[in-house]
Amino acid sequence: MPELPEIEVLRRSLEPRLLGRRIVGVEVHTPALREPLDRRALRRRLQGQSILALRRRSKYLWIEVSGGSTLVVHLGMSGRLTLAPAGAPREAHEHLAFGLDSGERLRLRDPRRFGIAFAAPTAALARDPHFAGLGREPLDPPLAGPELSALARGCRAPAKAFLMDAKRLVGVGNIYASESLFAAGIHPARSVARLSAARWRRLAVAVVEVLERAIRAGGTTLNDFADGTGAAGYFQVELAVYGREGEPCPRCGAAIRRLVQSNRSSFYCPRCQR
Ligand SMILES: [Zn+2]
Repeated sequence: MPELPEIEVLRRSLEPRLLGRRIVGVEVHTPALREPLDRRALRRRLQGQSILALRRRSKYLWIEVSGGSTLVVHLGMSGRLTLAPAGAPREAHEHLAFGLDSGERLRLRDPRRFGIAFAAPTAALARDPHFAGLGREPLDPPLAGPELSALARGCRAPAKAFLMDAKRLVGVGNIYASESLFAAGIHPARSVARLSAARWRRLAVAVVEVLERAIRAGGTTLNDFADGTGAAGYFQVELAVYGREGEPCPRCGAAIRRLVQSNRSSFYCPRCQR
């Protein structure tokens, strides 16, 4: 499932190719993904408009166009948003596509249909129910220890659950929460009510570094993530603990363990993470 780094990689890969392009056609091939696709609103708000900016909020890509609207896309579990050359045939599971004045087509392929796409007034996005309850972005500006600690005020949850609570902090999913806790030397089950200021500082640095390293590596491609040009990421080769149960810890050599928390697997080193 794409997390924050993958969406940031997608944004950066598409930005130079989309800025200034005009949307000349909107093709909707299915009535709904995770939510209904509003064909009329997509056409009315996007057709004929020029692309002004690409932004990211949590795991959503925002494509802002002229005329005061923004196209919002979430890839769900298995979505791919790519630019297809002029004349490329429609692919399997291509549910939505935008023809551009360059002749290319920006298309959303989503075999499992957990994605989301809609167009909304740009000025109203902050109040939109998809975004109204979201917490702080970890990278804009980079988190610091005291602030991360303040986000956990009143929370007694395990560190792993806290990092993945999008109402407090967005964009840190299962993979990057495990990796950040390893980098900070914190056990995933440790309550955040019992973390010292020094540990909060280490955790904030770890979250920012892990996400930035993943972005530089082009994201993590465990299933089928690809950027806007179809290129896979390779951060999976740098993962220290995620998916490595039984393998030696890269720092101390102890066997990595797996722990199930809230139905999700956490991976950790029993010696380095206390
Ligand atoms: Zn270790």
